[in-house]
Amino acid sequence: MTVTTTPAAPDVAANLAAVLERIIRAADGSGRRPEDVTLVAVTKTHPADHIVPALAASHRVFGENRVQEAERKWPALKAAYPGTALHLIGPLQTNKVREAVALFDVLETLDRPKLAEALAREMDRAGRRPGCFVEVNTGEETQKHGVSPAEADRFIAHCRGILALPVIGLMCIPPLDDEPALHFALLAKIAARNGLTELSMGMSADFEIAIAFGATHVRVGSAIFGARPASVTG
Ligand SMILES: *Cc1c(COP(=O)(O)O)cnc(C)c1O
Repeated sequence: MTVTTTPAAPDVAANLAAVLERIIRAADGSGRRPEDVTLVAVTKTHPADHIVPALAASHRVFGENRVQEAERKWPALKAAYPGTALHLIGPLQTNKVREAVALFDVLETLDRPKLAEALAREMDRAGRRPGCFVEVNTGEETQKHGVSPAEADRFIAHCRGILALPVIGLMCIPPLDDEPALHFALLAKIAARNGLTELSMGMSADFEIAIAFGATHVRVGSAIFGARPASVTG
């Protein structure tokens, strides 16, 4: 595998251990079992040599937000560290569906009928069925992806029904300037009424709150791998 050297490498192993410890404490504090919370370590923008320490420390669940970037980094890492599960946490274009179904183990951003139909076709063709989270735009922000809370029940039923997609849960990204707890509670409510058990919510700044509201997957990047370049968003 290609190893690039970048200055000021963060202490990934120590940061990872600290985040895992905080997850255990947050789960304990809300009467939940720590093993029911999966840490999705978000590696977008970070080079392979910053990811290897997390793999070497036996972490196996990671998130990337772009298909092309993931295709550059992850095939070699997945081959070197068997059992690695890669989650897509960024928007998926229909013209990248084939690559996404081939590389990712979980797709967290199922957010519109056209994508759902393309995924159903590709999963049938490829014979590979990564679990899907429906992304809900809990803040109803026009610039954000995700189905609106009002459309969620119908979209989930469409995906699970006629398209037979393996929908396992819901995902949200709350508005930056809002109280995240309101959004986590709303996502949990929509999941419960649809009989979905998995909730992907909470990032570096708020994953402990998300755990208190029932998160089964927290997506944590900067707390483990350090800050990303300011020009790279979402
Ligand atoms: C980048 C990203 C994260 C991780 O954010 P941090 O604040 O670095 O923990 C989580 N979820 C999504 C969808 C992201 O794009």
